[in-house]
Amino acid sequence: MSVSLTPELLARYDKPGPRYTSYPTAVEFSTDFGPAEYGSHLEAAARDATGPLSLYVHLPFCEARCSFCGCHVVVARRKSVADAYLGRVLDEASVVAERLGERRRLVQYQWGGGTPTYYTPEDLERLHRGLLDRFELDPAAEVALEVDPRVTSRAHLEVLRGLGFNRISLGVQDLDPRVQDMIGRHQTWEQTQSLHLSARELGYESINVDLIYGLPGQTEATYSKTLEGILELRPDRLAVYSFAYVPWVRPNQKRIDPALLPDRDLKFALLSLVSDRLVGGGYQAIGMDHFALPDDELAVAQREGTLSRNFMGYTTKRGTEMVALGSSGISDVAGAYAQNHKRLASYYEAIDNGVLPIERGTVLNEDDRIRRHVITELMCNYVIRADDVERRFDIVFETYFASELAALTAPDGLVDQGMVTLSAAGVQATELGSVFIRNVAMTFDAYLHGSSERPVFSRTV
Ligand code: SF4
Repeated sequence: MSVSLTPELLARYDKPGPRYTSYPTAVEFSTDFGPAEYGSHLEAAARDATGPLSLYVHLPFCEARCSFCGCHVVVARRKSVADAYLGRVLDEASVVAERLGERRRLVQYQWGGGTPTYYTPEDLERLHRGLLDRFELDPAAEVALEVDPRVTSRAHLEVLRGLGFNRISLGVQDLDPRVQDMIGRHQTWEQTQSLHLSARELGYESINVDLIYGLPGQTEATYSKTLEGILELRPDRLAVYSFAYVPWVRPNQKRIDPALLPDRDLKFALLSLVSDRLVGGGYQAIGMDHFALPDDELAVAQREGTLSRNFMGYTTKRGTEMVALGSSGISDVAGAYAQNHKRLASYYEAIDNGVLPIERGTVLNEDDRIRRHVITELMCNYVIRADDVERRFDIVFETYFASELAALTAPDGLVDQGMVTLSAAGVQATELGSVFIRNVAMTFDAYLHGSSERPVFSRTV
């Protein structure tokens, strides 16, 4: 790693913190925000009839639960359990589309899970066609899905490509059989390789591979081999996440013996390895945890300072409002976040009664909007431009953020540590600061003041 990252810095700054897929984060959502509130926000969004939209569909089913998994998942071995779900998603889409009036044009459309390809190609085609009866795909839309190579066939990829899917993300995590044993997920090299090859042959425009470092049993030698294998495939993008060990939120992680997790020094070595191998292999680091080939649109957007981020991940579709369908999905419309019920029974009950299936949410105030913007800029482009913030929100940057700027410049603060530089132009994260970008962003989070370590969050590195 070319930056002066040390185990001491890691020890000091690797602490619980948000990933900032939203601001305020989901822990601030309240059950005071329910179906009626979401309904009026959808109607407010409908007033901008030509505005672009993103649509996320959560398909939560998996055949078994991997012990490391942090997603909202429903294990169902009998497909009939999952069949009932698709009808509910289409019913939900009808209710939402009605509230949105003429506003139906999707510039971003994504299926996540769970495992979307748990379903057969025929089921997925039925779902897709049903959704397109209610929404309309922009010809240039990003149409993406996550797949588990263990259950995804070439037929899945052919049907989905034929339906217009142009981006695909392969869950891999680690290629080493011993690590796979420890995380309860067995996936052969051949499964990964052949699916990647099929996606290339079928013309998916962007292929992403998900990896995780910090898993039990990983060593520098094993992880080095994993990275070498993936570099051989040369996906367009890589997401390399730090393992979020949060057994108090995800009880399935209790199956992992914490004594087998890499200690801080090893985790540091793994992090350094990721950066060295991927940057050395020609990839550009993107925001947090992500890498892309230099001609990938995310890499171009970051170089141009226009990269953005939402619940689906990094995107070039800045500021696009997002509607989520399915259990646990989080929408972001007209200045509010709204999360669907996580429990299937509650989700089904609401849909069957014709009610928007909202469990909780929050309405952003002006301060939230300002901080959401500066945190997003940091997480995506490593910079806060004072003039941009002043123009958008009619504030004086230095005055509004006086206490945050003082914290950054305090003795031994992030400026002294070489993580950020301050100037009249704003705040710039250094290369070192980009590794700790969640910590830099946390300085601007009003909800963390007074409690810098919240165990609800995963660790920042
Ligand atoms: S890691 Fe993927 S396949 Fe495993 S339980 Fe989680 S969502 Fe399902």
